[in-house]
Amino acid sequence: MSWKAVIGIEIHVQLRTQTKMFCACAIPAEGDEPNTKTCPTCLGLPGALPTPNRAAIEKVLAVGSAIGAKAPATTRWDRKNYFYPDLPKGYQISQLDLPLAEHGKIEVTTSTGTRTVGIRRAHLEEDTARLRHEKARDGARSSLVDYNRSGVALLEIVTEPDIRDGETARRYAEELRLLLRTIGAADAEMENGQMRVEANVSIRASEDAPFGTRVEVKNMNSFRAVERAIAFEITRQAEVLDAGGTLTQESRGWDEGSGTTYTMRAKEDSHDYRYFPEPDLPPLAIDPAWLAAIVATLPELPHARRARYVAELALSEYDAAVLVGEPAAAGLFEAARAALPSLDAKILANWVSGEYLRVARDRVVTIDAAQFAALVAAVAAKEISGTTGKALFEEMAAGPLDIRQVITSRGLSQISDGAALEALAAETLAAHPQALADWRAGKQQAIGFLVGQSMKASKGRGDAAQLGEILRRLLEAAG
Ligand SMILES: [Zn+2]
Repeated sequence: MSWKAVIGIEIHVQLRTQTKMFCACAIPAEGDEPNTKTCPTCLGLPGALPTPNRAAIEKVLAVGSAIGAKAPATTRWDRKNYFYPDLPKGYQISQLDLPLAEHGKIEVTTSTGTRTVGIRRAHLEEDTARLRHEKARDGARSSLVDYNRSGVALLEIVTEPDIRDGETARRYAEELRLLLRTIGAADAEMENGQMRVEANVSIRASEDAPFGTRVEVKNMNSFRAVERAIAFEITRQAEVLDAGGTLTQESRGWDEGSGTTYTMRAKEDSHDYRYFPEPDLPPLAIDPAWLAAIVATLPELPHARRARYVAELALSEYDAAVLVGEPAAAGLFEAARAALPSLDAKILANWVSGEYLRVARDRVVTIDAAQFAALVAAVAAKEISGTTGKALFEEMAAGPLDIRQVITSRGLSQISDGAALEALAAETLAAHPQALADWRAGKQQAIGFLVGQSMKASKGRGDAAQLGEILRRLLEAAG
């Protein structure tokens, strides 16, 4: 039978702050020695008192505003009581019924259209420590606790059960990450655990039937894993029910290697965490002027920026999505346009999404936007060839470069003089008789080869398009 899936997503994100949520400890970095970023507060020692991190609260309020959520007039901290070795206090400071943001939404574009995902709530809490399970050479097992992560500011965002398939879930997680990065709230790198996605998946016979048995899927370490794990889980549940079986409410982990989910633990209906208001922290009033000041500093949001690029700059939806999808790329695009407003937006967009993103994918690069604009302008005006432009961009990515000065001092101007190109093409043709033979044998790619050789001979300065035309004419004449 054809089942309808119902999916809700819960995401935990480490906020980008200088210090932890309730103490002045620095945020641990990759490679830190275990238990070096701790103090009595985040170690949960008796008598230590929490002090809220103002920047973390401001970031959550900014996120709330960016997703169109409401902030309460007054919020409160609650104790969520449970014991686990990664939680030294025996409770986590969280927010129960007065979260910092409620009733927001995020729109995502999927292969079958636009979907709106409702966001039930977003609240602030503290992260737990990290457990490391080790096995010694003699086979003895031990569990080690690293308290560096204990107390790091954590944002939890919970959607409504609005999602119906794995693709939408993936797109939602990607769009949320982009939003968080754009407003500077988080880096949200899934690979190193800064962003953790969990999905609640159930199926039912029809859209108006009651919800089925809910299974929580965890351990998805990439966006692709989110999509695959949910798709797998929907199929698995359908197979169980089609075979006359029943589903168990449980937590299942995603195994990337086998592409399947596996039982982690059966889950009771709801844990009794014995929440109560945190006695060490007073309720927090959200002053409307404070909130307004935070909202005023929000940058242009991804969906608005994409729409503007399409409407005002006539970029395609695809180009707009690629540019806006990487905040650094959009930043370079904006800065280059500001430096040289006359520059064609489409050509500039191609350079950012082509050359810049290609280089930025592998390493951190700092590009001077004004020099970048000058480079793209020189290529667009056919002053230098595209080949020369790309070579100069590589240099620019490695260090500062004065484009105008380099073009003049190195004599890089493009050869677009007809007679010079004609001579260049003729020489190349004479030097490669095999290419002429190939052409005669019907091999069209001989032209590409000859253009490449001519460009090489001109040290990248030739006008490749013109050379192509001249070579085709020469070949046809010889042919
Ligand atoms: Zn601390």
